[in-house]
Amino acid sequence: MLIIGSHVSFGKDQLLGATKEAISYGSTAFMFYTGAPTNTIRKDINEDFTTQAHQLMQENNIELKNVICHAPYIVNLGNRQDEDKYEFSINFIRNELKRCDEMGISSMVLHPGNAVGKITKEEGLNNIINALNQILDGTTKCKILLETMAGKGSECGSTLEEIAYLVKNVTKQDQIGVCIDTCHINDAGYNVENFTEYLDSFANLIGLDKIGCLHINDSKNPLGSHKDRHANIGKGTLGFNTLINIIYNEKLSSIPKILETPYIGDTDDDKNRLYPPYKYEIDMIREKKYNPNYFEEIRKYYHKD
Ligand code: FE
Ligand code: FE
Ligand code: ZN
Repeated sequence: MLIIGSHVSFGKDQLLGATKEAISYGSTAFMFYTGAPTNTIRKDINEDFTTQAHQLMQENNIELKNVICHAPYIVNLGNRQDEDKYEFSINFIRNELKRCDEMGISSMVLHPGNAVGKITKEEGLNNIINALNQILDGTTKCKILLETMAGKGSECGSTLEEIAYLVKNVTKQDQIGVCIDTCHINDAGYNVENFTEYLDSFANLIGLDKIGCLHINDSKNPLGSHKDRHANIGKGTLGFNTLINIIYNEKLSSIPKILETPYIGDTDDDKNRLYPPYKYEIDMIREKKYNPNYFEEIRKYYHKD
């Protein structure tokens, strides 16, 4: 069975709301932030919502192991200019793992961090490793999946070598893995048309058993642009067939694939009315057939007044 879904929101009904949204797109997996990705304010996990969500997943072919959390992207474990802030980030991520444990979530995606200010890439990477080794102190179970980054600004983790360095230096090997983002690897300079080559390098440097999640996004920018702007499936530089090849790669059949493609406006530059593209993108992926008119169909479906 194809394990596919999208990013969904974790609203006031928490995991239950997220599950309902995922089901509405026909998903067999999904990913959520446990609050706004841009801040660190978090509510307690409600047990009732969690129990109901688990029940609903079971009835709808969603296995809990294919439900992924994403840590907020403002947390930067590469930055140790201010020791208090660094400590805050470490505690915050540890708490996110606890919240995941409470919900039975087994993987959380994390942007490794940025080498801000005057520090070198290597210092940034070492700050991240030090933080990860403090976070993974044996009190939690949820895995951390380090995301492959586009290499925007001073981002750490945009090359396989950097990801390998991070992964290898984490003590708790059973709690560390990787999330491959197709837009990011294109923007970082890996030609996704030769995805088997990429996977071979991944296998040599890191090991395929470390892959815990795939982010499936097209890219608005060319190979090696270091930009990180996601495009809808088939509407970017990667194209539909390249993405289909990755999604159906047999070595990755047990890995959840998560869409993080942008919402669609009533017109191409309408930012006021935005509709989720996921039901349509998931359908095309399931059928392995590109529908050139899917934006129009989404607009028709959601724009009811
Ligand atoms: Fe991400
Ligand atoms: Fe991503
Ligand atoms: Zn991105």
